[in-house]
Amino acid sequence: MSDLHKPKLVVLGTGFAAFSLLKSLKRSAFDTTVVSPRNHFLFTPLLPSTTVGTLEFRSIIEPIRKSVPGIRYFQARCADVDTSRKEIVCNGALDGTPFRLQYDTLVIAVGAVNNTYNIPGVEQYALFLKELLDARTIRERVIDCFERASQPTLTEDRRKQLLHFVVVGGGPTGVEFAAEMHDFVKEDLQKPYSPLIPYIKITILEAGPSILSTFDGVLSDYTARLFRRQQIEVRTNSPVVQVAAEAITLKNADIVPFGLLVWSTGIGPTGLIQSLPFARSKTLRLVTDEWFRVKGIDGLYALGDCAAFETIEFPATSQVAQQEGRYLAKILEASLTGTTIAPFQYHHYGMLAYVGSNRALADLATVKGRGLATWIFWRSAYLTKLVSIKNKILVVFDWAKTFVFGRDISRF
Ligand SMILES: Cc1cc2nc3c(=O)[nH]c(=O)nc-3n(C[C@H](O)[C@H](O)[C@H](O)COP(=O)(O)OP(=O)(O)OC[C@H]3O[C@@H](n4cnc5c(N)ncnc54)[C@H](O)[C@@H]3O)c2cc1C
Repeated sequence: MSDLHKPKLVVLGTGFAAFSLLKSLKRSAFDTTVVSPRNHFLFTPLLPSTTVGTLEFRSIIEPIRKSVPGIRYFQARCADVDTSRKEIVCNGALDGTPFRLQYDTLVIAVGAVNNTYNIPGVEQYALFLKELLDARTIRERVIDCFERASQPTLTEDRRKQLLHFVVVGGGPTGVEFAAEMHDFVKEDLQKPYSPLIPYIKITILEAGPSILSTFDGVLSDYTARLFRRQQIEVRTNSPVVQVAAEAITLKNADIVPFGLLVWSTGIGPTGLIQSLPFARSKTLRLVTDEWFRVKGIDGLYALGDCAAFETIEFPATSQVAQQEGRYLAKILEASLTGTTIAPFQYHHYGMLAYVGSNRALADLATVKGRGLATWIFWRSAYLTKLVSIKNKILVVFDWAKTFVFGRDISRF
């Protein structure tokens, strides 16, 4: 069948949900177009490791054009969906040029954005950790802080402020960044910046009563104890009310000066999801049925972090998005033959997190693992889950390189 006669499938996004859909789909059956401002898939679970150079940026991404051949790709952002004409409106990601695309089936897998809870100053002064560019900015800023703090004219207080690395949000991403930062300081910065070591401080500010609240209590307590030993300060019940250029204000009026602030307090809906006139869940995700069909709209599907069932809201994780993508591939193929498929069932395989000093957590149904052996398991699990042989080889090389030569501290 020529492409002209195949159903037009348009997929928005190149994240976990879209990527697993595209990889699992019999693509020859569809005329497939992918629209996303990001021309690569990013393996986010290892993103915190790139912020300090444990891993290199390009080791955890896969260009969409190479990994999913036979598709049409536009580096653009979808701005609107016209369901009556079955068209989407897009703006080129590089120059903003608008264009329209027609679809028979549209899959919305645009993920989510960082939630700032409209706290003043966060957008302006905090750094986020969601995309590769964020990780690169953090890596540059860390070295920046050390070089600035080395300048001869500084006061003690200014030096302390520059070397105060603050993470807001004690979820897995915030904890993993703090852990990576701790390893970087301990393993790579002690000698080159020895006069600065007494000034360095890492702090996690968490609004709730504990860090890693989605993990089993035994594991979150273990992490709190480990962080005490690693001298990472954890301040629980410490909601932030304002962020300025170099200081945070807490609800109890404490002022916390910082050199670098990473904001990691959860996610919210993207601009596109907010603007669409469809039913939304409590957390403002698009509501779908158990086959990922947006309610009442023909040919429209939504999945991943931007979607939820009416009755269940799955956690915003890669394992959910991946399973959903694989399932939707089956649904789309079945739609060509009129076959019926049972509703989606999520299988939870557990959660993993790195907590520093070659230690990790594994919150699995049968085991609550922690420590060195779990760290080996953590590394093996992610090595298996990386999406290409190239990524797997590069990540192993990066780990070996870091072990032998340490992390690079150059600034350019
Ligand atoms: C630092 C970090 C660490 C994480 N660690 C883990 C972990 O260890 N385990 C785990 O299970 N989960 C983890 N997650 C969560 C996981 O990454 C997400 O749940 C998962 O990526 C969601 O998949 P998705 O496809 O819905 O969205 P994403 O993977 O975010 O993809 C969304 C895609 O949509 C594109 N897009 C956005 N707007 C538009 C638009 N208007 N038009 C077209 N395209 C658009 C984006 O560019 C992107 O390609 C982590 C997340 C982060 C940020």
